[in-house]
Amino acid sequence: MRRGTLFKNMEISQIKGLNTSHGEGTLNIVTGHYDQYKDIEGKFLGARFEPKVPTIFEYLRKTFAVPPHQTLIVNGEDRPDEEFYTFSNHFAFGIDYRSNMLSLYRFKAWLMRQQIAQGKLSDKEIEKKKKELTKWEKVDRRTKGDDRQGSELESFWQHWREYYGDSGFVNPRGDRLLTELTVRAIKELRPRLIMVNYQDCDYVHWGYMSHYTRAVSIMDEGLKNIVEAVERDEEYRNNTLFVVVPDCGRDSNPFLNVPCQHHFNSRSAHEIFALFVGPGVRRGDVVDRTVDQSQIATTLGRFMGFSAEHAEQRVLEEAIA
Ligand SMILES: [Zn+2]
Repeated sequence: MRRGTLFKNMEISQIKGLNTSHGEGTLNIVTGHYDQYKDIEGKFLGARFEPKVPTIFEYLRKTFAVPPHQTLIVNGEDRPDEEFYTFSNHFAFGIDYRSNMLSLYRFKAWLMRQQIAQGKLSDKEIEKKKKELTKWEKVDRRTKGDDRQGSELESFWQHWREYYGDSGFVNPRGDRLLTELTVRAIKELRPRLIMVNYQDCDYVHWGYMSHYTRAVSIMDEGLKNIVEAVERDEEYRNNTLFVVVPDCGRDSNPFLNVPCQHHFNSRSAHEIFALFVGPGVRRGDVVDRTVDQSQIATTLGRFMGFSAEHAEQRVLEEAIA
């Protein structure tokens, strides 16, 4: 906070039919726009959503001709539905301006193709590996498996394989994995915009408050590692904006057996915060005024020099020095 601006009263709007969950929250942040998303297969709590307005990745890529491997989302294994939130259905943006995804799924899919090409797998093994990947491929409705990542990402995965091998048992897990992917990506891919979808604290759905608080400390450690990676790097140091924002709040109903849920549309599930840190951000400021999650996209655009023209237009002015 000393180094930036904290909006301590940010809200997810109370709009009828709007859920406070991870898919919706992620899309509110990246599009700056609320929508009553429905799972395209009508699955209860399903989150195969397709935004109709562009994501910040698409705006940035289109405005500055940024290549896809420099706009990245880092995703965990618990959120297959979010694996393809990389582009909208907007006619002027969409797949040509999509961001790339860094996740263990992408690594495994790449590895399987490598191993097949090298003739290393029996038909039975290929069958088995394809089965492992189906839950992910099912979500890839719009590109039908054609969402290949390009040569930069392929050499990224090549280096990952050289370091961690093929087993999948050596690399870090959970949010620590996302941190590792992010720090490596900063070094190897030189991203202009990267979103890290930390999610370990959601294990609180299993019922234990300690899952939540432990995960918060893992996330905190991850943020520290990412900030350090940026500060070690001359190009990124003093040239990088950090925005920390939750995709949803948490229920505070004391009568529920399981703490910190977010599917009951309670007031506190709509209550979040946002922290901005970086060059051009006002330092040491805490803003009490109520602001809105949909304002992030346009504000980011203001800092980065693109116009999020289909997003909520009110900028978080207090953040700007
Ligand atoms: Zn959850």
